[in-house]
Amino acid sequence: MTHPLYIGRFAPSPTGPLHIGSLIGALASFLDAKASNGRWLVRMENIDPPREIAGADRRILDTLHHHGLCWDGDVLEQSTRSAAYESALAHLLDTGQAFRCSCSRRQLSQFDGIHRGHCVTPEKTDDCAIRLRVPDHIWHAHDDLQQPLHQNLQQEVGDFILKRRDGYYAYQLAVVVDDGYQGITHVVRGSDLWVSTPRQRYLQSLLGLPAPRYLHFPVIVGTDGHKLSKQTFAAPVENSRAIDNLLLALHFLNQPLPDSRHSIDSLLLAAIKHWDRQRLPAVMGQPESAFYNHGEPLLP
Ligand code: GLU
Repeated sequence: MTHPLYIGRFAPSPTGPLHIGSLIGALASFLDAKASNGRWLVRMENIDPPREIAGADRRILDTLHHHGLCWDGDVLEQSTRSAAYESALAHLLDTGQAFRCSCSRRQLSQFDGIHRGHCVTPEKTDDCAIRLRVPDHIWHAHDDLQQPLHQNLQQEVGDFILKRRDGYYAYQLAVVVDDGYQGITHVVRGSDLWVSTPRQRYLQSLLGLPAPRYLHFPVIVGTDGHKLSKQTFAAPVENSRAIDNLLLALHFLNQPLPDSRHSIDSLLLAAIKHWDRQRLPAVMGQPESAFYNHGEPLLP
């Protein structure tokens, strides 16, 4: 089998049902993959049980299905990937790139909360976090939509956590290991994660993983000006309004709106055909309120 040139993914965390912001992310990554004849994978990022909501994973998949967003292959569950994360951690610890840290938040507050290699390595104990040591030089990240990001990881981020003190794996580690494992070539996701990309690029380089191409589209914000999130109970999208929801998402992504609206499949086929990355808005965080009037979608 030839290796596809494009493997994209949507990677929701099951911390609640999909809202319009996350549907926009699913649709953008789906259309970008399908317009390139690529594969589109779904990965359930269920590595943080304290933040998860029972049944949210099934509900998210059900919503994708009702909106015609059918994924290729099986859903990868991060909860099954501990062995891969442990092996990456072992490599980083063995090579001295990662270290055990028992600094408390209070201790770190003396350093603006940024860890810059100043803790005393504790005795071998499980009651500690594992952090990645980061270099004091500028790391560059490139994006197909955003301006390049130049970040000094040590000054701006600090030695970041790979495994938490409570034993759970950190997003930064899991996302890098799994993007590599699944052969992801293109990451299309919300701009709230753009600032994480230099950390992910650095980890990829240490683990010998190829860098995907990135495209970060602007996230939709709520009436309070903050990113819509499941934790702040943004309204779930209703499956019974799938066509309206897809039209709103296309409108936000500034894509041409298909005339064929009689079925989800015909709408998506037209959206794939006319998908145009050049039209994506680069820096706007359009408020959710621009889409709704008293809870009713303002259809374009
Ligand atoms: N699981 C993350 C979220 O739901 C997305 C991770 C990613 O796309 O890299 O926000």
